[in-house]
Amino acid sequence: MGLILLCASEIMYAQKSCLSQNHTFISTPRNVDLSEPITIPVVVHVLFKTDDQFISAQQVQDQIQMLTADFRRQNADTLQTPAVFQGVAADTEIEFCLATRGPDGKEVSGVNLLPTEEAEIGITGKFSETREGGQDTWDAGQYLNIWVCEILEDGSIAGFSSLPGEDDDWDGVVIDYRYFGLDTSLYPHHLGRTLTHEVGHWLGLNHTWGDEDNCNVDDGVEDTPLQQQAYRDCPTGDQFSCNSQDMYMNFMDLVNDDCMNLFTQGQKMRMHETIDQYRSTIRSSPGCALITSIAASNLQEKLRIYPNPTRDYIHVVYINDKPIVPEKVSRLFDLQGRLQMQSLSDRIDVRDLPGGLYLLKIQIGSEVSTQKILIL
Ligand SMILES: [Zn+2]
Repeated sequence: MGLILLCASEIMYAQKSCLSQNHTFISTPRNVDLSEPITIPVVVHVLFKTDDQFISAQQVQDQIQMLTADFRRQNADTLQTPAVFQGVAADTEIEFCLATRGPDGKEVSGVNLLPTEEAEIGITGKFSETREGGQDTWDAGQYLNIWVCEILEDGSIAGFSSLPGEDDDWDGVVIDYRYFGLDTSLYPHHLGRTLTHEVGHWLGLNHTWGDEDNCNVDDGVEDTPLQQQAYRDCPTGDQFSCNSQDMYMNFMDLVNDDCMNLFTQGQKMRMHETIDQYRSTIRSSPGCALITSIAASNLQEKLRIYPNPTRDYIHVVYINDKPIVPEKVSRLFDLQGRLQMQSLSDRIDVRDLPGGLYLLKIQIGSEVSTQKILIL
Protein backbone atom coordinates (compact mmCIF):
# COMPACT_ATOMS: atom_id res chain seq x y z
CA MET A 1 0.00 0.00 0.00
CA GLY A 2 1.02 3.59 -0.45
CA LEU A 3 1.98 6.35 1.88
CA ILE A 4 0.31 6.40 5.24
CA LEU A 5 -0.12 9.93 6.44
CA LEU A 6 0.20 9.92 10.11
CA CYS A 7 -1.57 12.75 11.71
CA ALA A 8 -2.13 11.21 15.03
CA SER A 9 -4.25 13.89 16.51
CA GLU A 10 -1.66 13.82 17.42
CA ILE A 11 0.23 11.84 19.88
CA MET A 12 3.03 11.15 17.55
CA TYR A 13 6.46 9.97 18.22
CA ALA A 14 7.40 9.81 14.56
CA GLN A 15 5.92 13.05 13.40
CA LYS A 16 5.53 13.16 9.68
CA SER A 17 3.99 15.81 7.59
CA CYS A 18 0.32 15.09 7.60
CA LEU A 19 -0.56 16.52 4.25
CA SER A 20 1.87 17.10 1.49
CA GLN A 21 1.55 20.36 -0.39
CA ASN A 22 2.01 18.80 -3.79
CA HIS A 23 -1.56 18.68 -4.91
CA THR A 24 -2.61 21.90 -6.50
CA PHE A 25 -5.79 23.67 -5.71
CA ILE A 26 -7.12 26.28 -7.99
CA SER A 27 -6.11 29.47 -6.25
CA THR A 28 -8.51 31.87 -7.89
CA PRO A 29 -11.98 31.83 -6.38
CA ARG A 30 -14.13 29.27 -8.08
CA ASN A 31 -17.83 29.04 -8.29
CA VAL A 32 -18.29 26.57 -5.52
CA ASP A 33 -21.88 25.46 -5.37
CA LEU A 34 -23.10 26.40 -1.92
CA SER A 35 -26.79 26.46 -2.73
CA GLU A 36 -27.50 23.71 -0.27
CA PRO A 37 -25.51 21.69 2.26
CA ILE A 38 -23.71 18.61 1.01
CA THR A 39 -24.49 15.37 2.80
CA ILE A 40 -21.74 12.76 2.66
CA PRO A 41 -22.75 9.13 3.22
CA VAL A 42 -20.49 7.40 5.72
CA VAL A 43 -19.70 3.78 6.33
CA VAL A 44 -17.90 2.87 9.55
CA HIS A 45 -15.99 -0.40 9.39
CA VAL A 46 -15.45 -1.53 12.98
CA LEU A 47 -12.59 -4.06 12.99
CA PHE A 48 -12.42 -5.56 16.44
CA LYS A 49 -10.11 -8.23 17.75
CA THR A 50 -11.15 -8.06 21.39
CA ASP A 51 -14.30 -7.00 23.21
CA ASP A 52 -12.82 -3.70 24.31
CA GLN A 53 -12.16 -2.82 20.68
CA PHE A 54 -15.85 -3.21 19.90
CA ILE A 55 -17.74 -0.01 19.10
CA SER A 56 -21.52 -0.09 19.43
CA ALA A 57 -23.91 1.25 16.83
CA GLN A 58 -24.96 3.90 19.38
CA GLN A 59 -21.37 5.13 19.77
CA VAL A 60 -21.07 5.36 16.01
CA GLN A 61 -24.28 7.36 15.77
CA ASP A 62 -23.17 9.77 18.50
CA GLN A 63 -19.81 10.23 16.79
CA ILE A 64 -21.32 10.96 13.37
CA GLN A 65 -23.73 13.45 14.96
CA MET A 66 -20.80 15.17 16.63
CA LEU A 67 -18.94 15.26 13.32
CA THR A 68 -21.86 16.93 11.58
CA ALA A 69 -22.35 19.37 14.47
CA ASP A 70 -18.68 20.38 14.23
CA PHE A 71 -18.90 20.90 10.48
CA ARG A 72 -22.22 22.78 10.77
CA ARG A 73 -20.94 24.85 13.71
CA GLN A 74 -23.79 23.70 15.91
CA ASN A 75 -21.92 22.66 19.04
CA ALA A 76 -22.26 24.69 22.22
CA ASP A 77 -18.53 25.32 22.52
CA THR A 78 -18.52 27.50 19.40
CA LEU A 79 -19.12 30.22 22.02
CA GLN A 80 -15.55 29.67 23.14
CA THR A 81 -14.15 30.81 19.80
CA PRO A 82 -12.39 34.11 20.64
CA ALA A 83 -14.23 37.24 19.50
CA VAL A 84 -11.40 38.11 17.12
CA PHE A 85 -12.07 34.89 15.14
CA GLN A 86 -15.87 34.76 15.35
CA GLY A 87 -16.12 36.66 12.07
CA VAL A 88 -14.26 34.01 10.06
CA ALA A 89 -15.74 30.98 11.81
CA ALA A 90 -17.78 28.95 9.36
CA ASP A 91 -20.74 26.67 9.09
CA THR A 92 -19.08 24.55 6.40
CA GLU A 93 -22.44 23.33 5.06
CA ILE A 94 -21.13 19.78 4.96
CA GLU A 95 -23.03 17.04 6.77
CA PHE A 96 -22.62 13.31 7.27
CA CYS A 97 -25.14 10.48 7.36
CA LEU A 98 -24.73 6.80 8.10
CA ALA A 99 -25.22 4.82 4.92
CA THR A 100 -28.54 3.05 4.42
CA ARG A 101 -27.63 1.50 1.06
CA GLY A 102 -24.56 -0.49 0.23
CA PRO A 103 -22.56 -0.32 -3.00
CA ASP A 104 -24.87 -2.98 -4.50
CA GLY A 105 -27.95 -0.88 -3.68
CA LYS A 106 -29.14 -3.19 -0.94
CA GLU A 107 -30.13 -2.04 2.51
CA VAL A 108 -27.29 -1.82 5.02
CA SER A 109 -26.50 -0.36 8.36
CA GLY A 110 -23.76 2.24 8.00
CA VAL A 111 -21.94 0.38 10.75
CA ASN A 112 -20.01 -2.61 9.47
CA LEU A 113 -19.12 -4.84 12.41
CA LEU A 114 -16.23 -7.10 11.52
CA PRO A 115 -14.34 -9.35 13.92
CA THR A 116 -10.70 -9.75 12.95
CA GLU A 117 -7.74 -11.78 14.13
CA GLU A 118 -5.21 -9.15 13.16
CA ALA A 119 -3.32 -7.09 15.75
CA GLU A 120 -2.32 -3.51 14.90
CA ILE A 121 -4.34 -3.82 11.73
CA GLY A 122 -4.23 -0.05 11.24
CA ILE A 123 -0.48 0.33 10.97
CA THR A 124 0.05 -2.85 8.97
CA GLY A 125 -2.30 -1.59 6.27
CA LYS A 126 -4.38 -4.75 6.39
CA PHE A 127 -7.38 -2.72 7.55
CA SER A 128 -8.26 -1.96 3.92
CA GLU A 129 -7.85 -5.50 2.59
CA THR A 130 -10.78 -7.87 3.02
CA ARG A 131 -8.63 -10.91 2.29
CA GLU A 132 -6.15 -9.81 5.00
CA GLY A 133 -8.77 -9.57 7.74
CA GLY A 134 -9.84 -5.99 7.04
CA GLN A 135 -12.41 -4.42 4.75
CA ASP A 136 -11.92 -3.18 1.19
CA THR A 137 -12.87 0.44 0.56
CA TRP A 138 -16.49 0.89 -0.40
CA ASP A 139 -16.65 3.03 -3.56
CA ALA A 140 -15.01 6.26 -2.40
CA GLY A 141 -16.94 8.18 -5.00
CA GLN A 142 -20.08 7.35 -3.01
CA TYR A 143 -18.95 7.01 0.60
CA LEU A 144 -16.60 8.34 3.20
CA ASN A 145 -15.01 5.15 4.56
CA ILE A 146 -14.04 5.21 8.22
CA TRP A 147 -12.13 2.30 9.69
CA VAL A 148 -12.15 2.04 13.48
CA CYS A 149 -9.51 -0.39 14.66
CA GLU A 150 -6.34 -0.86 16.64
CA ILE A 151 -3.74 1.23 14.84
CA LEU A 152 -0.89 0.55 17.26
CA GLU A 153 -1.18 -1.44 20.45
CA ASP A 154 0.24 1.37 22.55
CA GLY A 155 -2.35 3.84 21.24
CA SER A 156 0.27 6.37 20.18
CA ILE A 157 -1.38 7.04 16.83
CA ALA A 158 -4.95 8.29 17.05
CA GLY A 159 -5.75 8.51 13.37
CA PHE A 160 -4.69 9.16 9.81
CA SER A 161 -6.28 9.98 6.49
CA SER A 162 -5.86 9.40 2.79
CA LEU A 163 -5.40 12.45 0.60
CA PRO A 164 -7.72 13.79 -2.05
CA GLY A 165 -6.33 13.05 -5.48
CA GLU A 166 -3.91 10.42 -4.23
CA ASP A 167 -4.00 7.30 -6.29
CA ASP A 168 -4.03 4.68 -3.59
CA ASP A 169 -5.72 1.38 -2.98
CA TRP A 170 -7.69 2.74 -0.06
CA ASP A 171 -9.56 5.96 0.56
CA GLY A 172 -10.92 7.34 3.81
CA VAL A 173 -9.84 7.84 7.39
CA VAL A 174 -8.63 5.46 10.05
CA ILE A 175 -9.29 6.11 13.73
CA ASP A 176 -7.92 4.09 16.61
CA TYR A 177 -10.81 2.60 18.62
CA ARG A 178 -9.66 4.46 21.76
CA TYR A 179 -10.22 7.85 20.09
CA PHE A 180 -13.53 7.19 18.37
CA GLY A 181 -16.86 8.26 19.80
CA LEU A 182 -17.79 10.27 22.85
CA ASP A 183 -17.33 9.65 26.56
CA THR A 184 -15.90 6.19 26.15
CA SER A 185 -12.83 7.49 24.38
CA LEU A 186 -9.74 8.67 26.16
CA TYR A 187 -9.52 12.13 27.72
CA PRO A 188 -8.39 14.57 26.37
CA HIS A 189 -9.43 13.08 23.02
CA HIS A 190 -12.88 12.22 24.26
CA LEU A 191 -15.20 14.35 22.14
CA GLY A 192 -14.78 12.63 18.81
CA ARG A 193 -12.64 15.37 17.33
CA THR A 194 -9.91 13.07 16.13
CA LEU A 195 -12.45 12.25 13.44
CA THR A 196 -13.30 15.91 12.80
CA HIS A 197 -9.59 16.64 12.28
CA GLU A 198 -8.98 13.64 10.02
CA VAL A 199 -12.05 14.31 7.89
CA GLY A 200 -10.67 17.84 7.50
CA HIS A 201 -7.58 16.26 5.92
CA TRP A 202 -9.73 13.96 3.81
CA LEU A 203 -11.40 17.09 2.44
CA GLY A 204 -8.07 18.72 1.60
CA LEU A 205 -7.18 20.75 4.69
CA ASN A 206 -3.63 21.16 5.94
CA HIS A 207 -2.54 21.75 9.51
CA THR A 208 -2.94 25.40 10.39
CA TRP A 209 0.76 25.88 11.14
CA GLY A 210 1.78 24.45 7.76
CA ASP A 211 3.71 21.46 9.16
CA GLU A 212 7.04 23.31 9.48
CA ASP A 213 8.10 25.09 12.62
CA ASN A 214 8.61 28.49 11.06
CA CYS A 215 6.66 31.46 9.71
CA ASN A 216 7.40 30.75 6.04
CA VAL A 217 5.07 27.84 5.44
CA ASP A 218 1.36 28.52 5.40
CA ASP A 219 -1.55 26.10 5.22
CA GLY A 220 -2.75 27.61 1.97
CA VAL A 221 -5.84 29.10 3.60
CA GLU A 222 -5.94 32.87 3.86
CA ASP A 223 -7.99 33.40 7.00
CA THR A 224 -6.02 31.05 9.25
CA PRO A 225 -3.17 33.22 10.56
CA LEU A 226 0.47 32.24 10.03
CA GLN A 227 1.63 30.20 12.98
CA GLN A 228 5.08 29.15 14.14
CA GLN A 229 4.20 25.63 15.22
CA ALA A 230 1.51 23.30 16.52
CA TYR A 231 -0.17 23.82 19.87
CA ARG A 232 -0.90 20.90 22.16
CA ASP A 233 -2.93 20.49 25.37
CA CYS A 234 -4.93 23.65 25.90
CA PRO A 235 -3.17 27.00 25.93
CA THR A 236 -4.71 29.71 28.07
CA GLY A 237 -5.65 33.10 26.70
CA ASP A 238 -4.34 34.77 23.56
CA GLN A 239 -1.22 33.35 21.98
CA PHE A 240 0.88 35.05 19.33
CA SER A 241 3.49 34.05 16.76
CA CYS A 242 4.55 35.28 13.32
CA ASN A 243 3.25 38.76 14.25
CA SER A 244 -0.35 37.69 14.60
CA GLN A 245 -2.73 36.07 17.04
CA ASP A 246 -2.75 32.29 16.70
CA MET A 247 -5.90 30.32 15.99
CA TYR A 248 -4.85 27.35 18.09
CA MET A 249 -8.53 26.42 18.65
CA ASN A 250 -8.89 25.47 14.99
CA PHE A 251 -9.87 21.82 14.37
CA MET A 252 -6.70 21.50 12.26
CA ASP A 253 -4.36 22.26 15.16
CA LEU A 254 -3.41 19.60 17.74
CA VAL A 255 -5.01 20.86 20.94
CA ASN A 256 -7.27 18.80 23.22
CA ASP A 257 -10.76 17.96 22.03
CA ASP A 258 -12.39 20.36 24.49
CA CYS A 259 -10.10 23.16 23.34
CA MET A 260 -10.89 23.14 19.58
CA ASN A 261 -14.03 24.65 18.12
CA LEU A 262 -13.82 26.06 14.60
CA PHE A 263 -13.22 25.76 10.90
CA THR A 264 -12.90 29.03 8.98
CA GLN A 265 -14.59 30.41 5.87
CA GLY A 266 -11.35 29.80 3.96
CA GLN A 267 -11.19 26.19 5.11
CA LYS A 268 -14.83 25.80 4.11
CA MET A 269 -14.02 26.97 0.58
CA ARG A 270 -11.02 24.65 0.43
CA MET A 271 -13.16 21.67 1.43
CA HIS A 272 -15.86 22.48 -1.12
CA GLU A 273 -13.19 22.90 -3.79
CA THR A 274 -11.82 19.50 -2.84
CA ILE A 275 -15.25 17.95 -3.21
CA ASP A 276 -15.73 19.62 -6.61
CA GLN A 277 -12.28 18.60 -7.84
CA TYR A 278 -11.87 15.14 -6.41
CA ARG A 279 -15.10 13.90 -4.92
CA SER A 280 -17.86 15.46 -6.98
CA THR A 281 -19.78 12.20 -7.43
CA ILE A 282 -20.45 12.06 -3.71
CA ARG A 283 -22.96 14.89 -4.16
CA SER A 284 -25.33 12.50 -5.90
CA SER A 285 -24.47 9.37 -3.94
CA PRO A 286 -27.53 7.24 -3.16
CA GLY A 287 -25.73 5.98 -0.02
CA CYS A 288 -28.22 7.59 2.35
CA ALA A 289 -31.32 7.35 0.21
CA LEU A 290 -34.43 6.42 2.12
CA ILE A 291 -35.30 2.77 1.92
CA THR A 292 -38.96 3.03 1.03
CA SER A 293 -39.74 -0.61 0.42
CA ILE A 294 -38.53 -3.70 2.11
CA ALA A 295 -35.98 -5.03 -0.34
CA ALA A 296 -34.87 -8.59 0.05
CA SER A 297 -31.27 -8.72 1.23
CA ASN A 298 -28.92 -11.67 1.07
CA LEU A 299 -29.23 -11.88 4.79
CA GLN A 300 -32.97 -12.45 4.65
CA GLU A 301 -32.49 -15.86 3.09
CA LYS A 302 -30.28 -16.96 5.97
CA LEU A 303 -32.66 -15.99 8.74
CA ARG A 304 -35.53 -17.91 10.24
CA ILE A 305 -37.83 -15.68 12.24
CA TYR A 306 -40.79 -17.23 14.03
CA PRO A 307 -43.52 -17.25 15.06
CA ASN A 308 -45.15 -14.43 13.17
CA PRO A 309 -47.63 -13.29 14.39
CA THR A 310 -46.48 -13.70 17.96
CA ARG A 311 -47.76 -13.01 21.46
CA ASP A 312 -44.64 -13.33 23.55
CA TYR A 313 -41.32 -14.15 21.90
CA ILE A 314 -39.68 -13.83 18.50
CA HIS A 315 -37.00 -16.38 17.72
CA VAL A 316 -34.25 -15.30 15.37
CA VAL A 317 -32.14 -18.11 13.98
CA TYR A 318 -29.26 -17.65 11.63
CA ILE A 319 -28.66 -20.54 9.25
CA ASN A 320 -24.92 -20.72 8.85
CA ASP A 321 -22.71 -22.97 6.80
CA LYS A 322 -19.70 -22.05 8.92
CA PRO A 323 -19.06 -22.99 12.54
CA ILE A 324 -18.87 -19.37 13.66
CA VAL A 325 -22.09 -17.69 14.72
CA PRO A 326 -21.66 -14.00 13.92
CA GLU A 327 -22.70 -11.16 16.19
CA LYS A 328 -26.30 -10.35 15.47
CA VAL A 329 -28.23 -7.22 16.46
CA SER A 330 -32.02 -7.19 16.33
CA ARG A 331 -33.94 -3.92 16.49
CA LEU A 332 -37.68 -3.57 16.62
CA PHE A 333 -39.24 -0.35 15.30
CA ASP A 334 -42.81 0.84 15.29
CA LEU A 335 -44.25 1.98 11.97
CA GLN A 336 -43.26 5.58 12.76
CA GLY A 337 -39.64 4.42 12.77
CA ARG A 338 -39.15 4.75 16.54
CA LEU A 339 -36.88 2.19 18.11
CA GLN A 340 -38.85 0.05 20.58
CA MET A 341 -36.36 -2.62 21.50
CA GLN A 342 -32.86 -3.82 20.82
CA SER A 343 -31.49 -7.29 21.47
CA LEU A 344 -28.43 -9.44 20.87
CA SER A 345 -30.28 -12.58 21.85
CA ASP A 346 -31.75 -15.36 19.73
CA ARG A 347 -35.02 -14.90 21.57
CA ILE A 348 -36.61 -11.48 21.80
CA ASP A 349 -39.14 -10.90 24.53
CA VAL A 350 -42.00 -8.72 23.22
CA ARG A 351 -44.50 -9.36 25.99
CA ASP A 352 -44.37 -5.75 27.16
CA LEU A 353 -45.03 -4.23 23.74
CA PRO A 354 -48.53 -3.19 22.70
CA GLY A 355 -50.06 -5.22 19.90
CA GLY A 356 -49.64 -4.06 16.33
CA LEU A 357 -47.37 -4.11 13.34
CA TYR A 358 -43.64 -3.59 13.82
CA LEU A 359 -40.53 -3.64 11.67
CA LEU A 360 -37.83 -6.03 12.80
CA LYS A 361 -34.37 -5.09 11.52
CA ILE A 362 -31.62 -7.64 12.00
CA GLN A 363 -28.02 -6.77 11.33
CA ILE A 364 -24.99 -9.00 10.80
CA GLY A 365 -21.85 -7.25 9.62
CA SER A 366 -23.16 -4.41 7.50
CA GLU A 367 -26.06 -6.44 6.15
CA VAL A 368 -29.54 -5.67 7.33
CA SER A 369 -32.71 -7.62 6.90
CA THR A 370 -36.08 -5.98 7.55
CA GLN A 371 -39.32 -7.84 8.12
CA LYS A 372 -42.78 -6.95 9.31
CA ILE A 373 -43.81 -8.56 12.56
CA LEU A 374 -47.30 -8.66 13.96
CA ILE A 375 -47.53 -8.68 17.75
CA LEU A 376 -50.91 -9.86 19.00
ZN1 LIG B 1 -3.47 16.06 11.19
